[in-house]
Amino acid sequence: MLDCAIIGGGPAGLTAGLYATRGGLKNVVLFEKGLPGGQITQSSEIENYPGFFDHTKSGMDFMDNWQKQCFNFGLEHRMDEVLQIQKDGENFSIQIAGKDPVSTKSVIVCTGSTPKRAGIVGEDKFFGRGVSTCATCDGFFYKNKEVAVLGGGDTALEEAYYLSNICSKVYLIHRRDSFRAAPSTIQRVQNKENIEIVLNTTVTQILGDDMGVNSILLKDKNGSETKLEISGIFVFVGHNVNNSVLKTSENNFLCDVNEQGQVIVNLKMHTSLEGLFAAGDIRIDAPKQVISAAGDGAVAALEVISYLQERS
Ligand code: FAD
Ligand code: NAP
Repeated sequence: MLDCAIIGGGPAGLTAGLYATRGGLKNVVLFEKGLPGGQITQSSEIENYPGFFDHTKSGMDFMDNWQKQCFNFGLEHRMDEVLQIQKDGENFSIQIAGKDPVSTKSVIVCTGSTPKRAGIVGEDKFFGRGVSTCATCDGFFYKNKEVAVLGGGDTALEEAYYLSNICSKVYLIHRRDSFRAAPSTIQRVQNKENIEIVLNTTVTQILGDDMGVNSILLKDKNGSETKLEISGIFVFVGHNVNNSVLKTSENNFLCDVNEQGQVIVNLKMHTSLEGLFAAGDIRIDAPKQVISAAGDGAVAALEVISYLQERS
Protein backbone atom coordinates (compact mmCIF):
# COMPACT_ATOMS: atom_id res chain seq x y z
CA MET A 1 0.00 0.00 0.00
CA LEU A 2 1.45 3.36 -1.05
CA ASP A 3 1.14 6.44 1.13
CA CYS A 4 0.71 8.57 -1.96
CA ALA A 5 0.47 8.03 -5.71
CA ILE A 6 1.36 11.06 -7.82
CA ILE A 7 0.06 10.85 -11.38
CA GLY A 8 2.09 12.92 -13.86
CA GLY A 9 5.72 14.05 -13.68
CA GLY A 10 5.60 17.67 -14.83
CA PRO A 11 6.49 20.60 -12.54
CA ALA A 12 3.43 19.93 -10.31
CA GLY A 13 4.07 16.19 -9.90
CA LEU A 14 7.82 16.50 -9.39
CA THR A 15 7.40 19.20 -6.75
CA ALA A 16 4.66 17.19 -5.02
CA GLY A 17 7.07 14.25 -4.92
CA LEU A 18 9.87 16.37 -3.47
CA TYR A 19 7.68 17.80 -0.70
CA ALA A 20 5.97 14.48 0.10
CA THR A 21 9.22 12.52 0.49
CA ARG A 22 11.22 15.30 2.13
CA GLY A 23 8.22 15.73 4.47
CA GLY A 24 8.64 12.17 5.68
CA LEU A 25 6.33 9.99 3.56
CA LYS A 26 8.03 6.68 2.77
CA ASN A 27 6.04 5.02 -0.02
CA VAL A 28 5.52 7.66 -2.67
CA VAL A 29 5.44 6.73 -6.35
CA LEU A 30 5.37 9.12 -9.29
CA PHE A 31 3.59 7.49 -12.23
CA GLU A 32 4.80 9.26 -15.38
CA LYS A 33 4.21 7.63 -18.72
CA GLY A 34 7.24 9.29 -20.31
CA LEU A 35 10.34 10.92 -18.99
CA PRO A 36 9.64 13.33 -16.13
CA GLY A 37 9.64 17.03 -17.00
CA GLY A 38 6.20 17.75 -18.46
CA GLN A 39 5.22 20.09 -21.27
CA ILE A 40 7.82 22.76 -20.48
CA THR A 41 10.43 20.39 -21.92
CA GLN A 42 8.90 21.24 -25.32
CA SER A 43 9.63 24.93 -24.84
CA SER A 44 12.55 26.60 -26.54
CA GLU A 45 12.99 29.06 -23.67
CA ILE A 46 11.85 30.05 -20.21
CA GLU A 47 12.28 33.58 -18.99
CA ASN A 48 9.72 33.96 -16.18
CA TYR A 49 10.92 31.50 -13.56
CA PRO A 50 12.74 33.51 -10.87
CA GLY A 51 16.33 32.42 -10.38
CA PHE A 52 16.66 30.92 -13.84
CA PHE A 53 17.95 33.63 -16.09
CA ASP A 54 19.70 32.08 -19.03
CA HIS A 55 18.07 32.73 -22.41
CA THR A 56 20.32 30.23 -24.14
CA LYS A 57 18.77 27.33 -22.18
CA SER A 58 15.67 25.43 -23.29
CA GLY A 59 12.81 24.03 -21.20
CA MET A 60 14.58 20.65 -21.32
CA ASP A 61 17.77 22.17 -19.81
CA PHE A 62 15.62 23.92 -17.21
CA MET A 63 13.97 20.69 -15.99
CA ASP A 64 17.21 18.72 -15.79
CA ASN A 65 18.03 19.76 -12.21
CA TRP A 66 14.43 19.31 -11.08
CA GLN A 67 14.65 15.60 -11.67
CA LYS A 68 17.93 15.26 -9.79
CA GLN A 69 16.57 17.23 -6.83
CA CYS A 70 13.06 15.80 -6.68
CA PHE A 71 14.23 12.16 -6.64
CA ASN A 72 16.81 12.86 -3.93
CA PHE A 73 14.58 12.00 -0.94
CA GLY A 74 13.20 8.62 -1.94
CA LEU A 75 10.58 9.42 -4.57
CA GLU A 76 10.20 6.45 -6.92
CA HIS A 77 9.46 6.93 -10.63
CA ARG A 78 7.52 4.24 -12.47
CA MET A 79 7.30 4.78 -16.21
CA ASP A 80 3.67 3.68 -16.43
CA GLU A 81 0.54 5.09 -17.97
CA VAL A 82 -2.28 5.34 -15.48
CA LEU A 83 -5.61 4.43 -17.04
CA GLN A 84 -8.00 5.11 -14.20
CA ILE A 85 -8.16 6.02 -10.51
CA GLN A 86 -10.81 4.06 -8.59
CA LYS A 87 -12.10 4.64 -5.06
CA ASP A 88 -11.63 1.52 -2.91
CA GLY A 89 -13.11 2.02 0.57
CA GLU A 90 -11.08 4.77 2.20
CA ASN A 91 -8.18 4.05 -0.20
CA PHE A 92 -7.69 4.19 -4.00
CA SER A 93 -6.80 1.66 -6.65
CA ILE A 94 -4.58 2.90 -9.50
CA GLN A 95 -5.28 1.05 -12.76
CA ILE A 96 -2.13 0.86 -14.87
CA ALA A 97 -1.75 -0.11 -18.53
CA GLY A 98 -0.48 -3.71 -18.80
CA LYS A 99 0.17 -4.15 -15.07
CA ASP A 100 -1.60 -5.06 -11.82
CA PRO A 101 -3.42 -2.26 -10.01
CA VAL A 102 -1.63 -0.49 -7.15
CA SER A 103 -3.34 0.46 -3.86
CA THR A 104 -2.68 3.83 -2.27
CA LYS A 105 -3.97 5.83 0.67
CA SER A 106 -3.95 9.13 -1.24
CA VAL A 107 -3.56 10.46 -4.79
CA ILE A 108 -2.33 13.72 -6.29
CA VAL A 109 -3.42 14.12 -9.91
CA CYS A 110 -0.94 16.23 -11.90
CA THR A 111 -1.63 15.06 -15.46
CA GLY A 112 -1.45 18.55 -16.95
CA SER A 113 -2.65 19.35 -20.42
CA THR A 114 -2.08 18.46 -24.09
CA PRO A 115 -1.94 20.73 -27.18
CA LYS A 116 -5.28 21.13 -28.95
CA ARG A 117 -5.76 20.48 -32.63
CA ALA A 118 -7.27 23.39 -34.59
CA GLY A 119 -9.68 21.17 -36.52
CA ILE A 120 -8.38 22.21 -39.97
CA VAL A 121 -8.95 19.97 -42.98
CA GLY A 122 -5.69 18.07 -43.56
CA GLU A 123 -4.36 18.65 -40.01
CA ASP A 124 -4.73 15.03 -38.88
CA LYS A 125 -3.69 13.62 -42.26
CA PHE A 126 -0.38 15.52 -42.23
CA PHE A 127 0.30 15.40 -38.48
CA GLY A 128 3.98 14.45 -38.12
CA ARG A 129 4.52 15.11 -41.85
CA GLY A 130 4.56 18.89 -41.84
CA VAL A 131 2.06 19.59 -39.05
CA SER A 132 3.62 19.90 -35.59
CA THR A 133 2.82 21.17 -32.09
CA CYS A 134 6.45 21.30 -30.92
CA ALA A 135 8.97 23.76 -32.35
CA THR A 136 11.90 22.57 -30.24
CA CYS A 137 11.25 18.97 -31.32
CA ASP A 138 10.66 19.58 -35.03
CA GLY A 139 11.96 23.07 -35.88
CA PHE A 140 15.31 21.82 -37.12
CA PHE A 141 13.60 19.83 -39.93
CA TYR A 142 12.61 23.21 -41.42
CA LYS A 143 16.07 24.80 -41.42
CA ASN A 144 16.16 27.58 -44.07
CA LYS A 145 12.59 26.80 -45.13
CA GLU A 146 9.37 28.82 -44.89
CA VAL A 147 6.85 27.77 -42.23
CA ALA A 148 3.56 28.97 -40.76
CA VAL A 149 2.66 29.28 -37.07
CA LEU A 150 -1.01 29.32 -36.07
CA GLY A 151 -2.27 31.00 -32.88
CA GLY A 152 -2.10 34.23 -30.93
CA GLY A 153 -1.11 33.18 -27.38
CA ASP A 154 2.24 33.06 -25.58
CA THR A 155 3.11 29.67 -27.03
CA ALA A 156 2.50 30.70 -30.66
CA LEU A 157 4.50 33.90 -30.39
CA GLU A 158 7.40 32.45 -28.42
CA GLU A 159 7.69 29.49 -30.73
CA ALA A 160 7.35 31.70 -33.85
CA TYR A 161 10.34 33.66 -32.57
CA TYR A 162 12.30 30.48 -31.91
CA LEU A 163 11.52 29.19 -35.42
CA SER A 164 12.53 32.51 -36.97
CA ASN A 165 16.12 31.76 -35.91
CA ILE A 166 16.08 28.47 -37.82
CA CYS A 167 13.71 29.00 -40.74
CA SER A 168 14.10 31.47 -43.59
CA LYS A 169 10.64 32.93 -42.97
CA VAL A 170 7.81 32.47 -40.46
CA TYR A 171 4.21 33.48 -41.22
CA LEU A 172 2.42 34.04 -37.89
CA ILE A 173 -1.28 33.58 -38.62
CA HIS A 174 -3.90 34.67 -36.08
CA ARG A 175 -7.67 34.76 -36.42
CA ARG A 176 -8.12 38.11 -34.64
CA ASP A 177 -6.44 41.52 -34.74
CA SER A 178 -4.81 41.33 -31.31
CA PHE A 179 -2.68 38.79 -29.50
CA ARG A 180 -3.09 37.23 -26.05
CA ALA A 181 0.67 36.91 -25.51
CA ALA A 182 2.70 39.01 -23.07
CA PRO A 183 3.47 42.54 -24.40
CA SER A 184 7.25 41.98 -24.32
CA THR A 185 6.86 38.83 -26.43
CA ILE A 186 4.61 40.63 -28.94
CA GLN A 187 7.18 43.37 -29.32
CA ARG A 188 10.02 40.92 -29.86
CA VAL A 189 8.03 39.16 -32.58
CA GLN A 190 7.00 42.42 -34.25
CA ASN A 191 10.64 43.48 -34.41
CA LYS A 192 11.88 40.27 -36.03
CA GLU A 193 12.45 40.92 -39.73
CA ASN A 194 11.69 37.40 -40.99
CA ILE A 195 8.36 37.02 -39.13
CA GLU A 196 5.38 38.16 -41.20
CA ILE A 197 2.29 38.70 -39.06
CA VAL A 198 -0.97 37.78 -40.79
CA LEU A 199 -3.98 38.95 -38.73
CA ASN A 200 -7.74 38.42 -39.06
CA THR A 201 -7.03 35.28 -41.04
CA THR A 202 -7.86 31.60 -40.64
CA VAL A 203 -6.27 28.52 -42.15
CA THR A 204 -9.00 26.61 -43.94
CA GLN A 205 -7.00 23.69 -45.33
CA ILE A 206 -3.57 22.09 -45.11
CA LEU A 207 -2.41 20.67 -48.42
CA GLY A 208 0.39 18.32 -49.37
CA ASP A 209 1.51 15.14 -51.08
CA ASP A 210 3.42 11.96 -50.23
CA MET A 211 6.37 14.08 -49.08
CA GLY A 212 4.21 15.99 -46.57
CA VAL A 213 2.82 19.52 -46.32
CA ASN A 214 3.52 21.92 -49.19
CA SER A 215 0.93 24.70 -48.76
CA ILE A 216 -2.04 26.05 -46.79
CA LEU A 217 -5.23 27.84 -47.78
CA LEU A 218 -5.93 31.10 -45.96
CA LYS A 219 -9.16 33.05 -45.65
CA ASP A 220 -9.19 36.66 -44.48
CA LYS A 221 -12.02 38.55 -42.75
CA ASN A 222 -13.43 39.68 -46.11
CA GLY A 223 -13.68 36.07 -47.25
CA SER A 224 -10.86 36.26 -49.81
CA GLU A 225 -8.84 33.08 -50.11
CA THR A 226 -5.13 32.75 -50.86
CA LYS A 227 -2.74 29.84 -51.11
CA LEU A 228 0.53 30.08 -49.21
CA GLU A 229 3.40 27.76 -50.06
CA ILE A 230 5.15 26.56 -46.90
CA SER A 231 6.99 23.42 -45.80
CA GLY A 232 5.39 23.07 -42.39
CA ILE A 233 2.76 24.45 -40.06
CA PHE A 234 3.08 24.67 -36.28
CA VAL A 235 -0.28 24.69 -34.49
CA PHE A 236 -0.37 26.43 -31.07
CA VAL A 237 -4.07 26.96 -30.33
CA GLY A 238 -4.24 26.13 -26.62
CA HIS A 239 -4.50 23.00 -24.54
CA ASN A 240 -7.04 20.43 -23.25
CA VAL A 241 -6.70 19.13 -19.70
CA ASN A 242 -5.73 15.47 -19.32
CA ASN A 243 -8.56 14.31 -17.06
CA SER A 244 -9.24 10.82 -18.45
CA VAL A 245 -7.73 9.12 -15.36
CA LEU A 246 -10.62 10.60 -13.37
CA LYS A 247 -13.36 9.15 -15.62
CA THR A 248 -15.36 6.37 -14.00
CA SER A 249 -16.59 3.29 -15.87
CA GLU A 250 -20.02 5.00 -16.01
CA ASN A 251 -18.36 7.94 -17.81
CA ASN A 252 -18.79 10.29 -14.85
CA PHE A 253 -15.92 11.96 -13.05
CA LEU A 254 -14.56 10.68 -9.74
CA CYS A 255 -14.62 14.24 -8.37
CA ASP A 256 -16.22 17.55 -9.33
CA VAL A 257 -14.97 19.18 -12.55
CA ASN A 258 -16.11 22.33 -14.38
CA GLU A 259 -17.51 22.56 -17.94
CA GLN A 260 -14.03 22.45 -19.47
CA GLY A 261 -13.22 19.31 -17.47
CA GLN A 262 -10.83 21.16 -15.17
CA VAL A 263 -10.73 19.71 -11.66
CA ILE A 264 -12.42 21.85 -9.01
CA VAL A 265 -10.10 22.29 -6.01
CA ASN A 266 -9.97 24.60 -3.01
CA LEU A 267 -6.93 26.68 -2.07
CA LYS A 268 -5.40 23.56 -0.46
CA MET A 269 -5.72 21.53 -3.69
CA HIS A 270 -8.39 19.27 -2.14
CA THR A 271 -10.85 17.92 -4.70
CA SER A 272 -14.44 17.07 -3.76
CA LEU A 273 -13.31 13.52 -2.88
CA GLU A 274 -11.44 12.90 0.39
CA GLY A 275 -7.86 11.74 -0.14
CA LEU A 276 -7.80 12.92 -3.77
CA PHE A 277 -5.85 16.09 -4.58
CA ALA A 278 -5.14 17.85 -7.90
CA ALA A 279 -2.33 20.24 -8.83
CA GLY A 280 -1.03 22.21 -11.81
CA ASP A 281 -2.60 22.86 -15.21
CA ILE A 282 -5.39 20.34 -14.61
CA ARG A 283 -7.08 22.42 -11.91
CA ILE A 284 -9.60 25.24 -12.27
CA ASP A 285 -8.23 28.75 -12.70
CA ALA A 286 -4.70 27.44 -13.26
CA PRO A 287 -2.45 30.28 -14.44
CA LYS A 288 -0.72 27.62 -16.57
CA GLN A 289 2.75 28.51 -15.45
CA VAL A 290 5.61 26.37 -14.22
CA ILE A 291 5.88 28.36 -11.02
CA SER A 292 2.20 28.00 -10.11
CA ALA A 293 2.14 24.29 -11.04
CA ALA A 294 5.12 23.76 -8.74
CA GLY A 295 3.44 25.78 -5.99
CA ASP A 296 0.28 23.68 -6.32
CA GLY A 297 2.34 20.49 -6.10
CA ALA A 298 3.97 21.66 -2.86
CA VAL A 299 0.60 22.62 -1.33
CA ALA A 300 -0.99 19.31 -2.34
CA ALA A 301 1.88 17.26 -0.85
CA LEU A 302 1.76 19.16 2.46
CA GLU A 303 -2.00 18.53 2.56
CA VAL A 304 -1.47 14.81 1.89
CA ILE A 305 0.93 14.66 4.85
CA SER A 306 -1.70 16.28 7.13
CA TYR A 307 -4.45 14.06 5.74
CA LEU A 308 -2.48 10.87 6.44
CA GLN A 309 -1.53 12.04 9.92
CA GLU A 310 -5.19 12.69 10.75
CA ARG A 311 -6.18 9.31 9.31
CA SER A 312 -3.72 7.26 11.36
P1 FAD B 1 2.46 19.08 -17.41
O1 FAD B 1 3.71 19.85 -17.55
O2 FAD B 1 1.51 19.03 -18.54
O3 FAD B 1 2.86 17.58 -17.00
C1 FAD B 1 1.90 16.55 -16.94
C2 FAD B 1 2.63 15.22 -17.03
O4 FAD B 1 1.67 14.16 -16.80
C3 FAD B 1 3.21 14.95 -18.42
O5 FAD B 1 4.60 14.67 -18.28
C4 FAD B 1 2.44 13.73 -18.94
O6 FAD B 1 3.26 12.83 -19.69
C5 FAD B 1 1.97 13.07 -17.65
N1 FAD B 1 0.75 12.31 -17.81
C6 FAD B 1 -0.43 12.73 -18.37
N2 FAD B 1 -1.35 11.75 -18.32
C7 FAD B 1 -0.75 10.67 -17.73
C8 FAD B 1 -1.20 9.35 -17.41
N3 FAD B 1 -2.45 8.95 -17.68
N4 FAD B 1 -0.34 8.48 -16.80
C9 FAD B 1 0.96 8.88 -16.52
N5 FAD B 1 1.43 10.12 -16.82
C10 FAD B 1 0.58 11.01 -17.40
N6 FAD B 1 5.13 28.19 -18.38
C11 FAD B 1 5.93 29.13 -17.83
O7 FAD B 1 5.83 29.40 -16.63
N7 FAD B 1 6.87 29.76 -18.58
C12 FAD B 1 7.09 29.47 -19.88
O8 FAD B 1 7.96 30.07 -20.51
C13 FAD B 1 6.27 28.49 -20.48
N8 FAD B 1 6.47 28.16 -21.78
C14 FAD B 1 5.73 27.15 -22.32
C15 FAD B 1 6.00 26.79 -23.63
C16 FAD B 1 5.32 25.75 -24.21
C17 FAD B 1 5.64 25.34 -25.64
C18 FAD B 1 4.29 25.07 -23.47
C19 FAD B 1 3.54 23.93 -24.11
C20 FAD B 1 4.01 25.46 -22.17
C21 FAD B 1 4.71 26.50 -21.57
N9 FAD B 1 4.48 26.91 -20.27
C22 FAD B 1 5.28 27.86 -19.68
C23 FAD B 1 3.41 26.32 -19.46
C24 FAD B 1 3.98 25.21 -18.50
O9 FAD B 1 4.79 24.30 -19.22
C25 FAD B 1 2.83 24.46 -17.82
O10 FAD B 1 2.01 25.38 -17.14
C26 FAD B 1 3.35 23.44 -16.81
O11 FAD B 1 4.24 22.51 -17.42
C27 FAD B 1 2.21 22.65 -16.17
O12 FAD B 1 2.75 21.69 -15.31
P2 FAD B 1 1.93 20.40 -14.84
O13 FAD B 1 2.86 19.63 -13.98
O14 FAD B 1 0.61 20.81 -14.31
O15 FAD B 1 1.58 19.58 -16.16
P1 NAP C 1 -3.88 30.24 -25.35
O1 NAP C 1 -3.37 31.34 -24.49
O2 NAP C 1 -5.17 29.59 -24.99
O3 NAP C 1 -3.95 30.79 -26.84
C1 NAP C 1 -4.47 30.02 -27.86
C2 NAP C 1 -4.49 30.86 -29.13
O4 NAP C 1 -4.95 30.04 -30.19
C3 NAP C 1 -5.42 32.06 -29.02
O5 NAP C 1 -4.81 33.18 -29.60
C4 NAP C 1 -6.65 31.61 -29.82
O6 NAP C 1 -7.27 32.67 -30.51
C5 NAP C 1 -6.05 30.68 -30.84
N1 NAP C 1 -6.97 29.62 -31.26
C6 NAP C 1 -7.71 28.79 -30.48
N2 NAP C 1 -8.40 27.90 -31.23
C7 NAP C 1 -8.10 28.19 -32.53
C8 NAP C 1 -8.47 27.63 -33.77
N3 NAP C 1 -9.30 26.57 -33.83
N4 NAP C 1 -7.98 28.18 -34.90
C9 NAP C 1 -7.14 29.24 -34.84
N5 NAP C 1 -6.72 29.81 -33.69
C10 NAP C 1 -7.19 29.29 -32.55
O7 NAP C 1 -2.81 29.01 -25.44
P2 NAP C 1 -1.22 28.98 -25.28
O8 NAP C 1 -0.58 30.06 -26.04
O9 NAP C 1 -0.81 27.58 -25.53
O10 NAP C 1 -1.02 29.27 -23.72
C11 NAP C 1 -1.66 28.41 -22.75
C12 NAP C 1 -1.34 28.94 -21.37
O11 NAP C 1 0.06 28.72 -21.08
C13 NAP C 1 -1.62 30.42 -21.25
O12 NAP C 1 -2.14 30.68 -19.97
C14 NAP C 1 -0.24 31.03 -21.42
O13 NAP C 1 -0.12 32.28 -20.78
C15 NAP C 1 0.66 29.95 -20.76
N6 NAP C 1 2.00 30.05 -21.36
C16 NAP C 1 2.83 30.94 -20.78
C17 NAP C 1 4.05 31.15 -21.32
C18 NAP C 1 4.93 32.15 -20.63
O14 NAP C 1 4.61 32.54 -19.53
N7 NAP C 1 6.02 32.58 -21.20
C19 NAP C 1 4.43 30.50 -22.48
C20 NAP C 1 3.55 29.60 -23.08
C21 NAP C 1 2.31 29.40 -22.50
P3 NAP C 1 -8.09 33.82 -29.72
O15 NAP C 1 -7.04 34.70 -29.13
O16 NAP C 1 -8.89 34.44 -30.80
O17 NAP C 1 -8.92 33.09 -28.70
